[in-house]
Amino acid sequence: MSTWSKRTKAVHHGTRRSQYGEVSEAIFLTQGFVYPTAEAAEARFVDAGEDEFIYARYGNPTVRMFEDRLAAMLGYEDCFACTSGMAAVTGALTALLKAGDHVVSSRALFGSCLYVLQDVLGRYGVEITLVDGTDNAAWDAAIRPDTAIVFFETISNPTLEVVDMRHIVAAAHNVGALVLADDAMATPVFSTAQECGADLAIVSTTKHVDGQGRMLGGAICGSRALIRGPIETYMKHTGGAMNPFTAWNHLKSLETIDLRVRAQAETAMKIADALAGHPKLSAVRYPTHASHPQHALANAQGASGGTVLAIEVEGGREACFAFLNALEIFTISNNFADAKSIATHPSTTTHQRLPQDQKDALGISMGLVRLSAGLEDPDDLIADLRAALG
Ligand SMILES: *Cc1c(COP(=O)(O)O)cnc(C)c1O
Repeated sequence: MSTWSKRTKAVHHGTRRSQYGEVSEAIFLTQGFVYPTAEAAEARFVDAGEDEFIYARYGNPTVRMFEDRLAAMLGYEDCFACTSGMAAVTGALTALLKAGDHVVSSRALFGSCLYVLQDVLGRYGVEITLVDGTDNAAWDAAIRPDTAIVFFETISNPTLEVVDMRHIVAAAHNVGALVLADDAMATPVFSTAQECGADLAIVSTTKHVDGQGRMLGGAICGSRALIRGPIETYMKHTGGAMNPFTAWNHLKSLETIDLRVRAQAETAMKIADALAGHPKLSAVRYPTHASHPQHALANAQGASGGTVLAIEVEGGREACFAFLNALEIFTISNNFADAKSIATHPSTTTHQRLPQDQKDALGISMGLVRLSAGLEDPDDLIADLRAALG
């Protein structure tokens, strides 16, 4: 199985068939499991085997199929599936940290990640240093002998900054720190977190895995020792395990993820090409586009820049809102990676509560619009954007 390509694994890896030999993965919508004898129950609590389950908060056959499949796609040994991307981020951090530990993270973060790092972990005595993620020297200066965890988004949401993963991983491992990569924007299809040495890749499966705007989910992928050790222990006792219905939907979605994400990434690049230099825009940002300041790094680190791009509309809030309201195919929403194309205004929605100085530092201006390329015809999307800009 390990010689299969990612695309084949996405369809088959980890399938467990019941005695009925069903073709499509079954959904085991059950909380508990019965034991043939009291002795068998006792034995399972002492040491549960690979396909022996106890309680759905600990594990479930449908969830386990999804965990095995996603781990194999990302190149990791194992995975723990969670209720949401934020449950995965929070679970991984709190499972591994204790009071007095030091964490270094890039400053360009999803708002909820910033809250967990600064507000939640700060309250429990974890020290956080935020750095400019694009500045390798800043990472080198911030990582100390007592740094326990280094955290970053491989491609940042919503400003599409790219971090030099190999450099940061080397600096972190040099002091024995673990590297946690929030891999939501990179997509499971194009992720290189494992190749670049990240110890854990954290995925909001709400995004490209579901890909159709339905399920909330998350996953933590890494070595078997970390996943079935501290991560599983923490997650199973604190209640963040994915439910079987979500896992079943995700298994079905993984069958099409390669086709969907490749098409959406191609569309994102086409939009970036079509809008670059548009007189009503001061910037177009897409990681692997020639106009992106880090395109060389983005191209070296991944085969694609993902399915999301950002544009900066000239003329402040009024012009930007007029543009958003004139869009006919793009819907105004705050998710991304849906089959439907989505336009987001981070400054007044997802990042509304961020203080102005932090918005300025991150480049979240009044004119910034995040565009998520869906599965519509790219020519229709480009025409929609051009008409709304007009
Ligand atoms: C969406 C997102 C999350 C949170 O995922 P949910 O599934 O919404 O909880 C975390 N990090 C990044 C980078 C995201 O884009």
